Amino acid sequence: MDGQDRSDEDLTRQLADGNEAASAELYHRYFARLYDFALRVTRDRDTAALVLQVAFLRAYQAVRAGEPAPFRLHLFAAAHYDAMERVRRQRGAVLEGDEAFVTLDPSRIAHPALAAELPDLARMAWQIYRDVKPDDYELIDLSVRQQFEPAEIAAMLRTRPESVETRLARLRAAFEEAFSSLVLLRRGRRACLDLDFLIGDADWSASVRRSIQRHLQSCQTCQATRRRFPSASELLAALAPAPAPAGWQETILERLQNAARTGVMATASSPGSSRMPIPPGSGICFSGKLPWHLLVLVSSVGRSRCNSCVAKKSSNRFTLGSVRWSCSCLLRPPSSDASSNTASAA
Ligand SMILES: [Zn+2]
Repeated sequence: MDGQDRSDEDLTRQLADGNEAASAELYHRYFARLYDFALRVTRDRDTAALVLQVAFLRAYQAVRAGEPAPFRLHLFAAAHYDAMERVRRQRGAVLEGDEAFVTLDPSRIAHPALAAELPDLARMAWQIYRDVKPDDYELIDLSVRQQFEPAEIAAMLRTRPESVETRLARLRAAFEEAFSSLVLLRRGRRACLDLDFLIGDADWSASVRRSIQRHLQSCQTCQATRRRFPSASELLAALAPAPAPAGWQETILERLQNAARTGVMATASSPGSSRMPIPPGSGICFSGKLPWHLLVLVSSVGRSRCNSCVAKKSSNRFTLGSVRWSCSCLLRPPSSDASSNTASAA
């Protein structure tokens, strides 16, 4: 495709001029990464599809509104706000099993001596990352997997770069410590009898993790064992993107293109899947003018008010001036009432 040669900046300029091919190219360029990000944060493929759809819509809108930030920053910022909102309502339910998350991409990691052990190590690394709070995981993902600089992450989260750096340093240290303990639990007992005795019959737990960590600080044998293996963040970075079900990429693109033309986001079940990436009725209307951060505000205040996909100022409690918009059904959770909206099922 000729779009492969064009930079994000070129494509973004063309998108701002209303070039549909440029928006499709950016979509294909970022689909796998963004879906993977949304899935790892929300741990539910339907939710991830909704996050992805909202993020692309908002990024397109931001570019068309002339906002200067790079496209991928718009995209991941929008995904961040939408994913966190959905995760808060999800109340910790983790729906997706681990298999989708632990495949290593051999081109991203080179440890010939450990080739046979890498799949297991990847599982161990994911075990450490999957059990933390979504916002902590998200921060690590933005840094380790998406390779954003702290200043870029700070812009997305609307905080200071220093506070991002501090949080990242703390989280990285905690993940590496936990991973070291898990590696020694599973791989270090034969080499160190003291460690073997220390663990006994215990299974993996917070107290076992702390005991192994204390032991590691003074045991050179275990320190040598640990050095044989890659770091947790190295393994996290090497995990292949979790794939979306067949057909979803094309379906969501069609919806985004239809939305751009008609102002209505159609919904339908995904081809080749028994699950619905976009629940029936979660229609989206939007003008091409509303900055995405205002859209976030509108959506979070006006959620579930969208009987006609038109703002009700009395319930939203602020004025939008002359901006033509509507979108409060955008953030409706998949299980909520889907009867009242203007979305047309495809
Ligand atoms: Zn030891």
